[in-house]
Amino acid sequence: MKTYLITGGAGFIGSNFIQYMFRKYDKDIKIINADCLTYAGNLENLKGVEDRRNYIFERVDITNRDDIDTIFSQHEIDCVVHFAAESHVDRSIKSPEAFVKTNVLGTQILLDIAKKYWEDKGEFKEGKKFIQISTDEVYGSLEENGYFTENTPVDPHSPYSASKAAADMLVKAYYDTYKMPVNITRCSNNYGAYQFPEKLIPLMINNALEGEDLPIYGDGKNIRDWLYVDDHCKAIDLVIKQGKIGEVYNIGGHNEKQNIDIVKIIINALRNLLSDDDYRKEHINENLIKYVKDRKGHDRRYAIDPTKIKNQLDWEPETKFEEGINYTIRWYLDNGEWMNNVTSGEYQKYYTEMYVEG
Ligand code: NAD
Repeated sequence: MKTYLITGGAGFIGSNFIQYMFRKYDKDIKIINADCLTYAGNLENLKGVEDRRNYIFERVDITNRDDIDTIFSQHEIDCVVHFAAESHVDRSIKSPEAFVKTNVLGTQILLDIAKKYWEDKGEFKEGKKFIQISTDEVYGSLEENGYFTENTPVDPHSPYSASKAAADMLVKAYYDTYKMPVNITRCSNNYGAYQFPEKLIPLMINNALEGEDLPIYGDGKNIRDWLYVDDHCKAIDLVIKQGKIGEVYNIGGHNEKQNIDIVKIIINALRNLLSDDDYRKEHINENLIKYVKDRKGHDRRYAIDPTKIKNQLDWEPETKFEEGINYTIRWYLDNGEWMNNVTSGEYQKYYTEMYVEG
């Protein structure tokens, strides 16, 4: 039985990944979820798996060396899938320090402890792997043409992407220096259920349902390449199993959209999904859109060239954007309580600072 240490498994992609892995492998795997539950971590995302005998939750901070060491001493970990991160660009612009601590130092501590337990007389034991979950944002920004390939030089612009790039470089260094078995995946923007509503899609859905402004940075024409979260999970699973040691894999589905178009898609979809007698339907229209001062250093366009993962690992996204986005919006509509729980308290303070006070 293969044992996975998933860091950040209570966050958006990590919780989707844990659910994906249990759907696929059921009792044939064991998962240890290490997450310190920041504002973005939520155990409600894992309701369906909590009672499994082959699932363990450990509330630990990845920057706490002793706690990470204890996990490795108690379990024979085969694979680390490292999602845990401070992940929101806007927060990194306001307070970069936490990003360096978790994303850089946390990654180095995980690498170090994994090396301690996996290395034997200078050789790594068979079947071990460290997967660094990274982002296309480390490549910087594109103009109208071109795509990020695995050979594109790293050129991050925000404190968030700089901290992810630094972490990637450490992972590469552990491969180059110690021959540690690693892969780095760099995925485009994900969307799906359980995403914290500071990110574009759930933010717009939530605000539209509440009849609040839909704040759009700058001219709204920044482009992101959107991928349904399960397609990302499938790609990670393939990289774990078949990725060539030491290699980087870009993950993206050629699905570029301007931010303003995403917002219009959400407005239309909500209007279609809500019944005529739902009072919220009346106020959901394009009049809610409000252009706000652009994000500092806002990258213009991200777009992934996924040729390598397609050719080497036979990966292709399975979910058409229209299907995925409708499913996602339906999910947020059906899970109002989840949304209420995550938008109470601390979120209100953050929202006021970001969008009301500016
Ligand atoms: P998220 O913010 O939803 O979740 C992050 C999780 O990490 C949370 O559960 C949080 O509690 C946990 N965490 C944070 N600091 C920690 C610490 N010090 N110790 C232990 N746990 C900690 O993030 P996400 O959107 O799910 O992203 C997951 C990973 O995927 C990140 O590494 C991110 O850079 C990468 N990524 C995200 C996207 C995207 O579109 N969301 C795209 C590409 C790559």
